[in-house]
Amino acid sequence: MNSQNYISVSAEPVKVVKFGGSSLADAEHFRMVKDIVTAESSRRFVVPSAPGKRFNGDDKVTDLFYKCYEVSDDRTALKEVFERVKERYELIIQGLGLSLNLSAEYESILSAISHHAGRDYAASRGEYLNGIILAHLLGYDFIDAAKVIRFAEDGSFDSETTNEILGKELAKHDRAVIPGFYGSMPNGTVKTFSRGGSDITGSIVARAVNACLYENWTDVTGFLTADPRIITNPRKIDVITYRELRELSYMGATVLHEDAIFPVRFAGIPINIRNTNAPKESGTMIVASADPSAPTPTITGIAGKTGFSVLNIEKDMMNAELGFGRKVLEVIEECGVAFEHLPSGIDTMSVIMNTHDIEKCRQKIIDGICHEVEPEFISIEDDLALIAVVGRGMVKSKGTAARLFKACAAADINIRMIDQGSSELNIIIGVDAGDFARAQNAIYKEFVG
Ligand code: ASP
Repeated sequence: MNSQNYISVSAEPVKVVKFGGSSLADAEHFRMVKDIVTAESSRRFVVPSAPGKRFNGDDKVTDLFYKCYEVSDDRTALKEVFERVKERYELIIQGLGLSLNLSAEYESILSAISHHAGRDYAASRGEYLNGIILAHLLGYDFIDAAKVIRFAEDGSFDSETTNEILGKELAKHDRAVIPGFYGSMPNGTVKTFSRGGSDITGSIVARAVNACLYENWTDVTGFLTADPRIITNPRKIDVITYRELRELSYMGATVLHEDAIFPVRFAGIPINIRNTNAPKESGTMIVASADPSAPTPTITGIAGKTGFSVLNIEKDMMNAELGFGRKVLEVIEECGVAFEHLPSGIDTMSVIMNTHDIEKCRQKIIDGICHEVEPEFISIEDDLALIAVVGRGMVKSKGTAARLFKACAAADINIRMIDQGSSELNIIIGVDAGDFARAQNAIYKEFVG
């Protein structure tokens, strides 16, 4: 049954709003969050993270909870760390002037952690307690995520069971806060997503209520066209498609948890990245497909990653040797290594892998391949950086690759590898790690200005 059937009939479309840790780090930010939520009555379902850092060098509450777990056998150390957690929440409660007493919650969490309730349970309490406070402040119902977000026996997220249970539960609430980051296993124990996983919860809730929009409120103005550590003041992306986002995230552009895309993409719900500290700004809209009549820049964004190695293999008549590629990839697979790219020629084959992944099995890969396919030449070269130039505006547009290579040549950068997917949505180039920043600057200047 479609989740749409569960949600109470409402004249107004529903929005799901998720706030990151920095948006809920202290009482002042909680007030800003309240202003945002109450500014639009469609913002009916709210997903909070745990309190983040208030200043450089501060602790994230989730990290403090992980610490609690680590020292759980040492009663004094546990109490000491837990006091710091309590202090964070008490400062928020007092700062907001709320009459909310969490003593019983603190007691039961401390006792559970000291009785080995588990690492995920400990980590999840950051969102759990923040959810209680936020629900109190907003006057919204509180729904414990352990009751509505389900994982399967093998630890993977159980999307269909969750959608069913969550849809039914949310239909009973006009307005509610659902803490992010965690859910439960079939036996009831708490399990978390990976770090930054509150983004995923927001997306799951948006799907379950068939929201018209999933607003993800954070501390940046949106997705940027390039990494601000490499390009000075890069322009913001106004509209990006899910597929473009996936390409850029893979290359390390991080604003949103990668897995947060799937539930809403499946349901065709757009995501709007917004800045809690600048709520008037429109942020970045992530959509299934962009309006084709709207002006589209050639390049939506540039992202890159260092730390790659390339395995080069040469053998005459390789293309005619049945199973050559499979045998090579099997050796790599048997070493437990995933490959990233596979640019190949007629008698040459290159396999790009993360340097970190092959650290312990470099020789085993070489020996295995020599044994399986008897190449004439084989080597592994390190210090490769990959740069992805991504844009729906590149599809069927002529001259993009020429401009890209010309810009690199003018900056005296040697391109070691080229990979263009058949989607034409991206061109990936490999350059020496030493040319990484210069190449991105040259490409940015050519396409963005
Ligand atoms: N609090 C969790 C973390 O720090 C999850 C999140 O913030 O999304 O990773």
